[in-house]
Amino acid sequence: MSIAANLGFPRIGARRALKFLLEGFWAGEIDPATLQDGAAALRAAHWRLQAGLGIGHVPSNEDSLYDHVLDMACMLGAIPAGYGWQGGPVSLASYFALARGAAGVKPLAMTKWFDTNYHYLVPLLAADQRFTLTENRPLARFQEARALALRTRPVLLGPVSFLMLSRRADGGDPLALLDALLPLYTRILGELADAGCVFVQMDEPVLARDLSDAARAALRRAYDALAGAGGPGLILTSYFGPLGDHLDLAVSLPSAGLHVDLTRGGEAMALAAALPAGRLLSLGVIDGRNVWRADLRARLGDLRAIAARREDGAAGLIVAPSCSLLHVPLDANEERALDPALRGALAFAVQKLAEISALARGLEQGEAAIADALAASDAAHRARAAAPGVHRADIAARLAAVDEAMTRRASPYPARRAAQAARLGLPLFPTTTIGSFPQTTEIRRLRAAHGRGEIDAAAYDRAMAGWIDDAIAWQEELGIDVLVHGEFERNDMVQYFADALDGFAITRHGWVQSYGSRCVAPPIIWGDVARPAAMTLRWTRHAQSRTARPVKGMLTGPVTMLNWSFVRSDIPRETVCRQIALALREEVRDLALSGIAVIQVDEPALREGLPLRRAGWAAYLDWAVRCFRLATAGVGDDTAIHTHMCYSEFADIMDAIAALDADAISIETARGRMALLDAFRGADAYPAEIGPGVWDIHSPRVPDAAEMAALLRRARSRLADWQIWVNPDCGLKTRNWAEVRPALAAMVEAARTLRAEVAAAE
Ligand code: GLN
Ligand code: ZN
Repeated sequence: MSIAANLGFPRIGARRALKFLLEGFWAGEIDPATLQDGAAALRAAHWRLQAGLGIGHVPSNEDSLYDHVLDMACMLGAIPAGYGWQGGPVSLASYFALARGAAGVKPLAMTKWFDTNYHYLVPLLAADQRFTLTENRPLARFQEARALALRTRPVLLGPVSFLMLSRRADGGDPLALLDALLPLYTRILGELADAGCVFVQMDEPVLARDLSDAARAALRRAYDALAGAGGPGLILTSYFGPLGDHLDLAVSLPSAGLHVDLTRGGEAMALAAALPAGRLLSLGVIDGRNVWRADLRARLGDLRAIAARREDGAAGLIVAPSCSLLHVPLDANEERALDPALRGALAFAVQKLAEISALARGLEQGEAAIADALAASDAAHRARAAAPGVHRADIAARLAAVDEAMTRRASPYPARRAAQAARLGLPLFPTTTIGSFPQTTEIRRLRAAHGRGEIDAAAYDRAMAGWIDDAIAWQEELGIDVLVHGEFERNDMVQYFADALDGFAITRHGWVQSYGSRCVAPPIIWGDVARPAAMTLRWTRHAQSRTARPVKGMLTGPVTMLNWSFVRSDIPRETVCRQIALALREEVRDLALSGIAVIQVDEPALREGLPLRRAGWAAYLDWAVRCFRLATAGVGDDTAIHTHMCYSEFADIMDAIAALDADAISIETARGRMALLDAFRGADAYPAEIGPGVWDIHSPRVPDAAEMAALLRRARSRLADWQIWVNPDCGLKTRNWAEVRPALAAMVEAARTLRAEVAAAE
């Protein structure tokens, strides 16, 4: 029999129920029992919903009050000292201290979960870490579901992935702790088997990465040990990419079944041939990373072809999403405000599970059994292909006219530098900020009221102009050299542009967990992208009209627009990115034509778009860089193009960063005390200007001028003086004015101190 399975359900709940429970609890408005009961009710509702949709293998233990990697660390007793844990079950206080920090302790580090926009907490292990089972969480969840007459398939983050996602306090290899960890897994699995659990989903997402020989050996040791222990059947689960060169290894590891992501490359037939009969093959044919309805007829064809290759036919095949549905919103039917043609093309978690269930039935009982679902899928795809705006001849023509010259500035950087210096006349170590200023409650309220149509345009414009005028006035007063308008009109750096561009849609309830209670609703790129009208010109020009100093134009770059949206899957990502780049190019040109001398195009998401496997990097970076250049190269030599990135791990992509050919880049360096500038050292590595952040804006702490000057001296030891700009790490929208004013005053003072030092030395 073929089985319909899910790998993980969006945990935040309809209307973000879990978010509000958590935030109520943190604010002290909700007691622990109410939080726990609310979370349990949500789990139960999600299990029932999935079973009701025809899912046979309903996942459990993938729910979380914050993060599933943190849950694993807590279950395994991998809790550093200082968080109030004394052994035994981990209290909510300790759990949230690890997640969010508490008086006197910082939270664990947080980082991106593979190539998604979900963030996990990085377990911090001691060199001699001892693991202890604080609770058998998967067992508790399994029994909780059993009490509701539901049988679930517990999900466990596998031992090798758990360790590889962790960090050891002494910098050593976490995999060295594998032998200490395995007995706990054996015990968890044994207790599950005793409770009647038949299958466990063992997630090993590291299989989508390049692996060292040591990591491959660790997988072998781990699964030899776990399979030998006689627990439930393990479904070894890989996602976020094909197995590639790990295919033989994955097949050879003892397991009851193997799950593979089939949405990112075709190795289905190789797997069907390689996996011995009698083992379950779980086929991730429904994309868990996008929001589009699948072509059911085509997917059924794929499944049948695979079944035909298997000795046991369709029996032993599991139909599944490519990965957990954590990364997609809950229910497309909630999007009543969307154009029905677009809504009909969408599949969020609920719709994806219905697709999986239909495919499993179709595989089992034949096409006729799911004739309605197939017809609906065909109709939706036909309708979408023909819908106005999806394929636009005007945009195709503009794209076809793009040539190499359009991605090249008129002159190489040194000539541009001279032209810009002549035009701008900036001092050494020019000061600037990254774009946004504090988004006060007043501003948020006004923008929201404006969005709902509750206040008229004139009143909104008056308020906006007032904030910008104030911001310009006090930047001048402080003595900042290159000013910004403050981005008060933007709620979010991607959504603002998505709102203004053709081809993007904004959802109302399309929330996806980013971390903890924080959710984002990425825009959906559904059609060809174009700019119907200027997007930033008005407020930028207004700001420039108030001052004789240069005001920076501020745009979100094409790669970031792409990487922080759900992207259509009917044309290549690269093509979508080029369309965005062309639209932004028009905005850049308009800004330049209206006299804006410095234009910053932010690309904080460039790095995170890197493919998981190194082999894919060059191709991605090649088109990403070309798109940035297409957006920015259409201006004259005396217009400075700046870019900004919210990180500083550039060592391995330095060539691409240089190839962007920006005149200046601002990066995050304050926390790393400029050590991260090493990648930029020497004009050979990076030939243009650099603004290494001197203020860590992620913390409420306000550094003084001496501290910033010390950072700048470190920067001087790595860069030429003419290269250095002085700016904070990132935008200031999450800070408040009480922090921003003194910090920027200190920043200006630090720049002056450095100028004086240089003058004195000459
Ligand atoms: N210009 C944006 C801002 O200042 C940049 C934010 C970012 O890079 N994430 O808010
Ligand atoms: Zn930033």
